[in-house]
Amino acid sequence: MLLEVSHLTKSYPGAEGPVPVLRGVDMTLEAGETLALTGESGSGKSTLLHLVGGLDVADAGSIRLDGQEITTLDDRGRAALRRGTVGVIFQQFNLVPRLDVVSNVLHGTLNRRSTLATMFNLYPDRDIVRAIDILDRLGIAQHAPKRAEALSGGQQQRVAIARALMQDPTIILADEPIASLDPMNAQVVMQSLRKIHEEDGRMVIANLHTLDTARRYCDRVVGMRDGRIVFDGTPEQLTTGVARDIYGADATFSEAATSTEIETLDTARQMLADIASA
Ligand code: ADP
Ligand code: MG
Repeated sequence: MLLEVSHLTKSYPGAEGPVPVLRGVDMTLEAGETLALTGESGSGKSTLLHLVGGLDVADAGSIRLDGQEITTLDDRGRAALRRGTVGVIFQQFNLVPRLDVVSNVLHGTLNRRSTLATMFNLYPDRDIVRAIDILDRLGIAQHAPKRAEALSGGQQQRVAIARALMQDPTIILADEPIASLDPMNAQVVMQSLRKIHEEDGRMVIANLHTLDTARRYCDRVVGMRDGRIVFDGTPEQLTTGVARDIYGADATFSEAATSTEIETLDTARQMLADIASA
């Protein structure tokens, strides 16, 4: 067992006192699992991810990652966690737009280097080779010299994944990684996350607000509602009834939309894009 979250609580200050956001979350994740965290906006998904990634501090409870207790780490301990064990990917990519792609990826090694080397953009050759190698795995090595801002959203998100991989993380936390992408780019990014999970055995937790994506790319789905886990199971166990538990009575869930249909649609989009750019 690699990640064990127990009795985790978190509140934020409100006008009339603390507002509970996580109300006692228990969850475990084994090595070799990809987990989708899903639920309505405001249900606490990002907060949970931030606590696991050491980006924020819990009020109470425990998070053990590879045997290490995270909730009691000080600022330095959390910073070390973020440049080692835990790689985080955000909806907005968080790249340096005017910097070239390979330098953006190498930014993942910044904390390990001296200020002087950083100032002059001096990177060891082996790091540069490794960065290109990672970009190549993600199918974007040809864009290495371009400015990040010149890339499509899906390519930029893969640069962000590459930057996270530079630190060789045990777990990758992705907070709405495809929320800003069109369906074609979303598919490529989810496939990239799936690939690094399958090939490297890294754990992946992705916050995804659509159930269809969650069940399509992840081994396990955890549904949150109002700061609590209301579903924890396999994609097969995700029925319309369960979707209503997670999203409320209005939930619609396209159980009929098979991956074949989605793939056909994506192929069509790709062909149109190819024709347009030819
Ligand atoms: P989700 O990712 O599921 O949309 P969040 O974890 O971002 O949910 O937010 C859960 C609740 O906590 C929301 O009501 C949000 O307004 C509140 N919240 C999140 N971060 C903060 C913060 N830094 N300060 C105050 N309230 C916050
Ligand atoms: Mg969120």
